[in-house]
Amino acid sequence: MKISNSSLNTALCIILLSATYGCSSTRNTGKKNMNFSDNKVIAHRGAWKNTGAPQNSIAALQHAIRLGCAGSEFDIRLSADEVMIINHDADHQSLDIEKSTYAELLNKPLLNGEKISTLEQYLRSGMNQKKTRLVAEIKPSPSGKTRSLLLAGKVVEMVKKLNASSHVVYISFDYDIMKKVKELDPAAPVQYLNGDIPAEQLKKDGIDADYHFSIFKTNAGWISEARQLGVVVNAWTVNNVAMMEEFLNQGIDFITTDEPEKMIELQATRTKTSTGR
Ligand code: MG
Repeated sequence: MKISNSSLNTALCIILLSATYGCSSTRNTGKKNMNFSDNKVIAHRGAWKNTGAPQNSIAALQHAIRLGCAGSEFDIRLSADEVMIINHDADHQSLDIEKSTYAELLNKPLLNGEKISTLEQYLRSGMNQKKTRLVAEIKPSPSGKTRSLLLAGKVVEMVKKLNASSHVVYISFDYDIMKKVKELDPAAPVQYLNGDIPAEQLKKDGIDADYHFSIFKTNAGWISEARQLGVVVNAWTVNNVAMMEEFLNQGIDFITTDEPEKMIELQATRTKTSTGR
């Protein structure tokens, strides 16, 4: 069969574009049929800062997805009647989430008019795409470990019920929550946030690192040593472009940021520079 020059050129262009802007990444997703963006950008509580969407709103999640972020982070808490709610703080518009029912929380919409979201609504909203991971932070309960672990169990149960496992990365400041998630779903990617566990121990427990950037600033070599062990490394919350660049130069896996637009632009510029395009 004769292949025309134009067909050949088209094929070469596709190969080149794939190599240059390849958006295929299966690392640490636990599933091989996903093509998550590989731009290393995790939008912190969605893309809200430059869009006007409220933090942790479905609008902010959808903005992060439209940007093509590798991930979009959100926070999960448990209401008094054990409904999983997406909110960062322990209270929502002066209502204590753990002491309020879901019905009471619904009476206080977000500033864009959205109702406060449940985990189920949030996951369903984010599952109809395959570029952006859903980075689920399980908040430790103010009332103690028992309720924290109850929430961890309920989150994993909901993710399994919705068949969302291939989209979800679990994060938490509570190491016991992380271990509980691994116990319930050994293949789940989990990243510990609190910065106080050495990479060797994380490796033994099958847990990755999502540490405050100051840990990596004060411990030169932390990122490369952890990655040599096979521990995935994420830094939070980096809004300064020079610092983003510094971490990218060190080979970091992901950066959580309130400025996903700036980081996407930075990576596009770096790609153009490195390829001479
Ligand atoms: Mg969070």
